[in-house]
Amino acid sequence: MIPVSQPFLPPIDEYNSLISKLWDTKWLTNNGPYVQQLEDKLKSYLHVPSLQFVNNGTAALLLAIKALQIKKEVITTPFSFVATTTSILWENCQPVFVDIDPRTLCIDPDKIEEAITDKTEAILATHVYGIPCDVTRIEKIAKKHNLKVIYDAAHSFGVHIDGKSLLEFGDISTLSFHSTKLFHTVEGGAIINNIGDKLDQHLKLLRSFGFEGENYQTVGINAKNSEFHAAMGLCNLKYINQIILRRRMITEIYDGMLANWVEKPSIPEGVEYNYAYYPIIFENEQELISVMNKLKNNNIATRRYFNPSLNKLPYLENNSSCPISEDISKRILCLPLFSELHVCDVEKISKLIMEGLANESTDNRRGRLYRV
Ligand SMILES: *Cc1c(COP(=O)(O)O)cnc(C)c1O
Repeated sequence: MIPVSQPFLPPIDEYNSLISKLWDTKWLTNNGPYVQQLEDKLKSYLHVPSLQFVNNGTAALLLAIKALQIKKEVITTPFSFVATTTSILWENCQPVFVDIDPRTLCIDPDKIEEAITDKTEAILATHVYGIPCDVTRIEKIAKKHNLKVIYDAAHSFGVHIDGKSLLEFGDISTLSFHSTKLFHTVEGGAIINNIGDKLDQHLKLLRSFGFEGENYQTVGINAKNSEFHAAMGLCNLKYINQIILRRRMITEIYDGMLANWVEKPSIPEGVEYNYAYYPIIFENEQELISVMNKLKNNNIATRRYFNPSLNKLPYLENNSSCPISEDISKRILCLPLFSELHVCDVEKISKLIMEGLANESTDNRRGRLYRV
């Protein structure tokens, strides 16, 4: 089976040489030297002023909401991984869904202001697939209404916009280093705080039970990560540029073969992209299901990332409507994309999709097939 994603693993000797030292030091967790090294290296690689390594991307979101003392309504996107919404709910806040821009699939800034009430305290938006939200407009709206901004940047490792790290926008950006993500530490994540040192200190406390030494200052949680995870990150970081280049090459092959067949979300001008995902948009759900099954029958996995639209989660109290997100969720499918995917498989996958669409459908599609 060709999976939809596959984690990069560094040469095992490189990992072992870091890990074997732990048998001497016996310092396995609690802000150990590998964690500190990884934080430093990530800060410089990502061009961000502050970064804290945590145990996963969901914990990063929870800490962000907690640290910014958000308690009421949070304007958020319906088109993301479920953790974006559940983090808001877990912190006993109220998610208020604002529909997405049909081109970037990120929250639509034109629709944010009409969703603001006297209880709105924050905007939590996702740079979905690593495509930047309209950070400039969101910043303006947030300033005008005195709102905090958190970006779920789980997909945005290494993305730059006009030469600046995307992670530098908003009050806080959160990353996930889960093994399905572009850069991974098996499990892991990070918080990037753009407010300043005081918040850094507070986040450190929250990450580690809310105390330092004998000073019990606040209610914290355990969101630390271990030396084993940090060592995986240190090894993987050495290969990240190669990984991104390889994924770019695969993306370009898909693009070349599928351009006339399916739509894709669009990446705005000035964005240095990271090739985190390869989503394609079909004309309707029936086409998607037929192509997905065809690929499955040929031992190729795909993923309906992201479906359902999060405003339709069954456990939400308020039933809101986001027609664009609900429509796109039914028609979007992520294709296999990982650094070790073979070129011949990329071609095979693309051909199966073209065949599937040609069989599926309309005369104009058939016409397109003959033109290829
Ligand atoms: C993966 C992901 C998360 C959660 O990260 P974990 O490290 O798995 O907890 C949150 N938001 C988005 C958009 C994600 O893709």
